[in-house]
Amino acid sequence: MIFCARRGNGRTQRKLLIGLLSVLGAAALPCPGFSQDIQYQADPDAAQKKTLLLKDFDPQPMLHAEKHEVPRARFPVIDMHNHVNDAGGVHAEDIPPAEVVRRMDRANVQTIVILTGMWGDKLQGVLDKMVKPYPGRFIVFAQMDYRKIDDANFSAEMVAQLDDAVRRGARGLKVLKDLGLGVRDKSGKFVGVDDPRLDPVWEECGRLGIPVAIHTSDPEAFWGPVDAHNERYEELIENPTWGFHDAKFPSKEKLLAERNHAIEKHPHTTFIALHVANWPENLDVVSAWLDKYPNMMVEFGAREAELGRQPRRSEKFFHDYQDRIMFGTDAEPEEAMYANYFRWLETTDEYFPYWGYPGQGRWEIYGMGLPDSILKKVYHQNAEKIFAQFKGLH
Ligand SMILES: [Zn+2]
Repeated sequence: MIFCARRGNGRTQRKLLIGLLSVLGAAALPCPGFSQDIQYQADPDAAQKKTLLLKDFDPQPMLHAEKHEVPRARFPVIDMHNHVNDAGGVHAEDIPPAEVVRRMDRANVQTIVILTGMWGDKLQGVLDKMVKPYPGRFIVFAQMDYRKIDDANFSAEMVAQLDDAVRRGARGLKVLKDLGLGVRDKSGKFVGVDDPRLDPVWEECGRLGIPVAIHTSDPEAFWGPVDAHNERYEELIENPTWGFHDAKFPSKEKLLAERNHAIEKHPHTTFIALHVANWPENLDVVSAWLDKYPNMMVEFGAREAELGRQPRRSEKFFHDYQDRIMFGTDAEPEEAMYANYFRWLETTDEYFPYWGYPGQGRWEIYGMGLPDSILKKVYHQNAEKIFAQFKGLH
């Protein structure tokens, strides 16, 4: 019967085979009912035959694992990282605000934070469209206008622009990854994340009591060559401008050190280091930063895949830093998207696709089954504490 089994690695199978042959003598009996001549040596031409293209490879897991649907979060949710109907047009099309609210109600999402609100009239447009008709359901952040970087009074202009934004109703400042990786001044050099010209802006955020949601650097694999060893190969082929392997770009470590330097210089300003401080692949180092910088918070938008593939380490991270982690998605508000995040946080389901699979890499994730006390903090309490710091312009 051993002859019929197809489990175990080749070496074990061969050992079993030799053992059996010595018992039975050289004439091994075929399995009853098998007309096929089953070989136990790998096909020597196998390497040449594995020609299926990566883009066509779509294996379906045969795992029979429990599946718990979580269409509604157990506690009200604040989505700290979203771009729905924003000023910059991150998503191709707007969704009617009433439809967004319907989806939020079904998923138990109390508030969505629209990070990319820009400034001036554009900001006003988002506030008028989203916040005015639905008070409490949307919060909008402002941004800086880097086109003015070479103005002699850039810092004062940005502080005035921020004050104006807060007067209009903005409740935070968003910094995109272009700071450090895209914005250049007249010297032709990239403006560093800890550039002193930005210090008055970070200080003003502290004075106003609004958080800085800062996106610095990107996944570690974006700095590697786009080759067969890159775990985000397909994503980088699809988005060639997301790769920073070229020597003209600062290293990931340098960028993160600059961001942390800015955070350290402004202890009275709360910084939300987006995307798990942009090193979820290295939770030991993010933990050390959270210990070192009491004014650093994190959210996990678009990093469900990273945290979900290391469930035991992530669970420890959520226990250790339960007062510092906030819920965020960085994805278009769809009910199925939220349900996927809730399943990951609330259940102990195993081996299921993260939202957007396989866009960020070919692996699956595992639920953490977080306790209610932590879920409440991550879903809304930690975010509420930050927004309660608001002081405004007086
Ligand atoms: Zn985002």
